[in-house]
Amino acid sequence: MQTNFSLAQLADPDVSHSEKILRKCVHCGFCTATCPTYLTLGDELDSPRGRIYLIKDMLENDKPADEKVVKHIDRCLSCLACMTTCPSGVNYMHLVDHARAHIQKTYKRPFMDRMYRVVLAAVLPYPARFKFALSAARLGKPFAGLLGKLPGGKPMAAMLALAPSKLAKADPSLAKEKHQAEGQRKGRVAMLSGCAQKVLDPQINKATIDLLTRLGVEVVTPKGEGCCGALVHHMGREADSHAAAKQNIDAWMGEIDNGGLDAIIITTSGCGTTVKDYGHMLREDKAYAEKAATISALAKDITEYLATLELQPSTTGNGIRLAYHSACSMQHGQKIKDEPKNLLANAGFKVVDVPEGHLCCGSAGTYNILQSEISEQLKDRKVANIEKMKPDLIAAGNIGCITQIASGTGIPIIHTVELLNWAHGGERPVKLAGHSFDKTHKQMVAAE
Ligand code: SF4
Ligand code: SF4
Repeated sequence: MQTNFSLAQLADPDVSHSEKILRKCVHCGFCTATCPTYLTLGDELDSPRGRIYLIKDMLENDKPADEKVVKHIDRCLSCLACMTTCPSGVNYMHLVDHARAHIQKTYKRPFMDRMYRVVLAAVLPYPARFKFALSAARLGKPFAGLLGKLPGGKPMAAMLALAPSKLAKADPSLAKEKHQAEGQRKGRVAMLSGCAQKVLDPQINKATIDLLTRLGVEVVTPKGEGCCGALVHHMGREADSHAAAKQNIDAWMGEIDNGGLDAIIITTSGCGTTVKDYGHMLREDKAYAEKAATISALAKDITEYLATLELQPSTTGNGIRLAYHSACSMQHGQKIKDEPKNLLANAGFKVVDVPEGHLCCGSAGTYNILQSEISEQLKDRKVANIEKMKPDLIAAGNIGCITQIASGTGIPIIHTVELLNWAHGGERPVKLAGHSFDKTHKQMVAAE
């Protein structure tokens, strides 16, 4: 694509990077075929190509963001299916990140929209605040339907509908900063303990630590690490996301200097995509650029790391029919496709692919709150595709998808690492308590 930026504009490193991305786009439109919002809404401006034109026009003409640009960029899920499809290697992720930061700097959103965004940014990344909000949400849950009918009430209704009716119990063993390897130590890793995930489902971190330590890997969760910054990053709040990234980098660099790290393990693929991008996010920061690149190079999804450990085959899965939902941040953001499925198959599960597996479930960070109508349509489509496969269980590697899909189906959905921990000598996932796999899996039910 031809661009027309002045030399003065190109002196800005963000503009210069976006210009290089724009030049790669050849307008072929292949990406439209796999874009969930284009498939749902049918508007070219809700396709990757349409959004690329809007961003180009805004940046090239040094315009503040306007209502039209904001509407179509806000509707983008950042699912990155377009990047998987694009034959020209257009880095849409960096382009839309730049557009979102530009919107945040130059556009004044309507009051309610601003309020929701401020509240989400002030609550979700902080576990104590999030936990308090979830407790309060339980009281408001019965009024979700009513609130959804009020002007500006849809995001509030979506938040209440998504809030679990029962809060997960915190596990005190997770407060420790160091978890010793069992037997001879074969490795040492840091695990991102995260923010929303550890409140919604602390069993994911517990299963990760239990499995890794049993496999001879020491796991550390140093003081200071926390939210990866993805939630605010996708809202264009650059200063907040960079601050979160720096805090994690400092905590992990401390561990690298004090014992070394083989990897930084991430159990939420949305966070993995962001941590792997720290090197890019902080490339212009003299004090952090090098450290950020080091951290990004060490970041690994738990399944990527487990795939290097040569796990013994297990029969725990006992042929349970398991639909594997690959989160967008897993398959498009990090290009991890086979490792989770191979590990689950090696654990005895009968892994089945989900039709239209490349399409987003509509979770996408805060998308299911801020764009709840489109999100609902995508959830219904995803759940229908999963249920078509008649699975006994669903596995996924991203808490956002787990929460979203669970709100649309009665089939249990469990994090991949909890199933792997169970298969390799750990506890049966808590979510399977009282759940039987009936006649099809007699042997397993009897063994429990
Ligand atoms: S990131 Fe997803 S929703 Fe956004 S343009 Fe690309 S394919 Fe469409
Ligand atoms: S597939 Fe790639 S090159 Fe073609 S229009 Fe989409 S982004 Fe541009």
